[in-house]
Amino acid sequence: MSNAQPLTELSADEIAAFRQEQQTAYETLKSSGLKLDLTRGKPSAQQLDLSNDLLKLPTTYVDEAGVDTRNYGGLQGLAKLREIFAELLWVEPEQLVAGGNSSLTMMRDTLYWLTLFGGVDSPRPWSQEEKVRFITPVPGYDRHHTLLESLGIEMVSVPMTPDGPDAAAVAELVANDPTIKGIWVVPTYSNPAGAVCTQEVAAQLASMPTAAPDFKIFWDNAYAFHHLTKDEAKSADILSLASAAGNPNRPIIFASTSKITFAGAGVGFLAASAPQVKWWLGHLANGSIGPDKLNHLRHAEFFGDAEGVRRHMRGHRDIIAPKFAEVQRILREKLGGKGIASWTDPIGGYFVSLDVLPGTATRVVQLAKEAGIALTPAGASYPYGTDPDDTNIRLAPTFPVPEEVTAAMEGVVTCVLLAAAEKLAG
Ligand code: PLP
Repeated sequence: MSNAQPLTELSADEIAAFRQEQQTAYETLKSSGLKLDLTRGKPSAQQLDLSNDLLKLPTTYVDEAGVDTRNYGGLQGLAKLREIFAELLWVEPEQLVAGGNSSLTMMRDTLYWLTLFGGVDSPRPWSQEEKVRFITPVPGYDRHHTLLESLGIEMVSVPMTPDGPDAAAVAELVANDPTIKGIWVVPTYSNPAGAVCTQEVAAQLASMPTAAPDFKIFWDNAYAFHHLTKDEAKSADILSLASAAGNPNRPIIFASTSKITFAGAGVGFLAASAPQVKWWLGHLANGSIGPDKLNHLRHAEFFGDAEGVRRHMRGHRDIIAPKFAEVQRILREKLGGKGIASWTDPIGGYFVSLDVLPGTATRVVQLAKEAGIALTPAGASYPYGTDPDDTNIRLAPTFPVPEEVTAAMEGVVTCVLLAAAEKLAG
């Protein structure tokens, strides 16, 4: 049988033989006693080591402006660090807040405050609306979905395209439905599809008429600088686009150093229009007398300037790009031309999105688990954890060492082939 022959073109006898072959390969896989994990979008120890000099910083506790970073105050975050990341995110330092160690927490706070108090342009708190809905491009980031679900905010899915969310579908939904209050966009190297939101899509989202006066774009730029190739995508300048379209308060940008320095001890950022930053800090002030400015200073000293961040990210690229290349090699060699799977080949970010034969994703994850390979649960990238086609699997190759990536992926393709053979054999 040709390696490139689509399985869907095989006769019943050929499928039966193919299934037997894959069953044998799977039994061998199972007996090899693997214990591997492709679930976690986490930096590896080798990546974390790139930032170990942070452990010796800061060298002083007084910043350039004479601020004693040991003390309370400075709610918006240390000026020098905001200057560095403002340049990288294409915003003004006054528009940027440097916070604690998690941008997801900043997203949660924003959503809570919109719900409890309403935003700068809300007629009333979202909790007083009869219904609040949010657009979720799929596949997307599971924690966006669970956060919305925790607040009872209904999710309306639109397809994620290689150019970002399907802008025409979004525009149609928001035009006449005032219950739709926002959309989540991961603009650069999206989780999990690796899509990059184009300037055109960003401009459409920034300018489209919305029935809700306080419609928000949660622009989660978690992978803004996380390039895998020299072809470095530049995020669209959503704040300027929205401002030019007369919707200055529509976008809120989020980013962090979680996958730049230490995932558990980095710095989260938020950027928005001046009134929206004021609104945000006003609510923050009820629960904080200032962020961890020592950590801000440590990061500012470590990077020095924006170029320091870019240089540092090239170090990450050198470590993880070979792992992504290995994932591609195995998928191409083992599944290419079989007509049962397609996958992304991202130029940045942390994930590969694999679509297997519809109706087999759950089976693939189960087979992998029984063979000692942990995969993200099927459906995890969809609201309520339900992929209507049971087709999508998120692969995260950054954390395991290279040999483990190879072994895990060899196992995954065996499971994909077996599940497809079972399905085709009926
Ligand atoms: N946003 C996206 C799209 C992510 O994939 C992740 C982590 O996986 C986060 C946010 C979490 O960010 P942080 O560590 O800054 O809370």
